[in-house]
Amino acid sequence: MEIKNHQIQRMLLIRFSRMGALLILTLTCLVSHPLSSQAQSKKRSFNRPPGLDGSAGITDTKYSPFARLQGVPMQDVAWTDGFWADWFKVCDSSMVPNMWGLFNNDTLSHGFKNFKIAAGLDTGIHIGPPFMDGDFLKWLEGTAAVYAHTKSAQRSKLMDGIIKVIAKAQRPDGYLGTQVQIAAMSRPDSLQVFGDTLSFEAYNMGHLMTTACVYYRATGKTTLLKVAEKAADFLQRYYEHSSPALARSAICPAHYMGVIELYRTTGKQKYLELAKKLMDLRDAVTNGTDQNQDRIPFRQQRTAVGHAVRANYLYSGAADLFLETGDSSLLRPLDSIWQDVTQRKMYITGGCGALYDGVSPDGTSYHPEEIQQVAQAYGRPYQLPNFTAHDETCANIGNMLWNWRMLQITGEEKYADVLERTLYNSVLSGISLDGKTFLYANPLAYNRDQPFTLRWSELPRDPYIGYSFCCPPNVVRTIAEASDYVYGMDKSGLYLHLYGANWLHTKTEAGDSIDIQEITDYPWNGKITLALHKMPSQPFTLHLRIPLWATGASLMVNGKAVAGPVQAGSYFTLTRQWQSTDKIELNLPMEVKLMAANPLVEATRGQVAVQRGPLVYCLESTDLPKNVDISSIRIAKENPWKAIKMKIGPQQITALETTAFVAPPAKNKAALYYNLSDQSDRPVKIRLIPYYSWENKGRADMEVWMPLAAK
Ligand SMILES: [Zn+2]
Repeated sequence: MEIKNHQIQRMLLIRFSRMGALLILTLTCLVSHPLSSQAQSKKRSFNRPPGLDGSAGITDTKYSPFARLQGVPMQDVAWTDGFWADWFKVCDSSMVPNMWGLFNNDTLSHGFKNFKIAAGLDTGIHIGPPFMDGDFLKWLEGTAAVYAHTKSAQRSKLMDGIIKVIAKAQRPDGYLGTQVQIAAMSRPDSLQVFGDTLSFEAYNMGHLMTTACVYYRATGKTTLLKVAEKAADFLQRYYEHSSPALARSAICPAHYMGVIELYRTTGKQKYLELAKKLMDLRDAVTNGTDQNQDRIPFRQQRTAVGHAVRANYLYSGAADLFLETGDSSLLRPLDSIWQDVTQRKMYITGGCGALYDGVSPDGTSYHPEEIQQVAQAYGRPYQLPNFTAHDETCANIGNMLWNWRMLQITGEEKYADVLERTLYNSVLSGISLDGKTFLYANPLAYNRDQPFTLRWSELPRDPYIGYSFCCPPNVVRTIAEASDYVYGMDKSGLYLHLYGANWLHTKTEAGDSIDIQEITDYPWNGKITLALHKMPSQPFTLHLRIPLWATGASLMVNGKAVAGPVQAGSYFTLTRQWQSTDKIELNLPMEVKLMAANPLVEATRGQVAVQRGPLVYCLESTDLPKNVDISSIRIAKENPWKAIKMKIGPQQITALETTAFVAPPAKNKAALYYNLSDQSDRPVKIRLIPYYSWENKGRADMEVWMPLAAK
């Protein structure tokens, strides 16, 4: 162990000296970073009051001492029409009931039956992956989030019944993990509590806590919260005497977020202490791996490694802990890793985790027995393949959760940019437009001629991913909660992070009513009108996000253009004493942009991706003439694009048409190399659709990145 530590230190020294300039830059940034000074001066004078508080969205940072922003309560924002209202409708009418059918189908999945067996209400064995409890709870969280808006009596009854079973399944000591409990019924020695690091027990209980908080906020009922508190108390007792080795059970740490949200909801200090303990224990692990982000302590990490879902959940949990403690040793890695991910390791779709399988970039040595494998993982900088991009839907959702928390810490627009990019592209791509089939991995290219099958590829979209049903309920809860990401507040005013037709009825910290209607066809059209029906009587600030992609944005108040530049990549602030007849019109230009990647991204050299607003587009072979191979398409830089409305399945989309070129086909398709034909490229009309809507029109080849035509 001693030797290994020396080796690690030596490797880190080598790496650090190589990255000296970058590190100095990063550290300089940290010294002058607004976070540090803000974090020092930000601490609010009041503490989180004890007692239950259900007035919040997906996170409750209104009393978090190191939060710059907080969300608005989940009931206060309602989609009215257009893009998100359509998605919400599909979520309510299709995703939630369809997925309940999957979890409650005993021949397909024991998602719910596992709880019934553990509760003694049914018989049988545990079926499903070890993390199935948590995934069932994600569906319940999504159902509760939908209920917050619909108040459906039938759903309320369904949730009440389910929660009764979950409560009955819980052991008297608070432990809840159906796999271990069911095994103990027949073979008491077969599986011990936290006996297997890959049993995901903490993950499952973490989702129990998050779900309980959302359920309480949506319904006002404490039934699930009581179960979650008992589980948290169990974890508190367990980790009190736990060794760092046992803390390795923190696989895929959804419980960091869960425990802190439980602290925020209940006001009980002991849960914050538990969250601190969990992070400290993690950092004391000595036999960890890069795959699980515990080879070196989190506080020493500066780059993203390993399993991308686990990584992004860890970063989200660490950000949550910073929001409550202001511990700058957590912020330093978060800031540095964020740079690493967004500048070197994230796909244009916001997708995270380039590798299906690989070797840890840092945990390697010349001794084969010491080489650490990684899977579903972040790769090396700029290693962003298209066909074999893993980009698990859960990792992409984790990217949103992490950036949302960074946004609460800083109020900086760049985090909302990543959140929006990820949501609109690599999160929505995880579910079909009718809400019934799913993708686990989200590649940026697909070709039916590929002579291999990727493990974990779910193409065509799968109605039930048997080995790992983690992503589908994760997308469902994210779509159900999309309205929670729209607004933010601080003492000075209201932040508009995301756009979409909605109505906001909320109150400021001082108790003033706010009533704003947002009228827009975003993301298809960049015109956003805000009708300020009711605003505080004193001067109040609106912070309107101008996305980084929206160069040339313009803003009018009551028909008059505002003074000063409307800078892309910032929040434009408007402070006034508002009148109930005031109208704001924001115009975000929606021209089609050809995007290029850093030349160090080998897989995309000489190619472009097409983006319009927040949406990345793709080409599917179904939209090409029959005899045209997708790989022969060349994008003409100069040719204009035309936006056209069309329907795919139940949803309206905006497609993009242009005239591209078709390169002459290879003479011998089976050859590895061939002479380039001297024939000229010929023009062809092509149609691109939003990336998230791919694989909804039957089997097809697909490309996000396409070569540019030669002039
Ligand atoms: Zn997943």
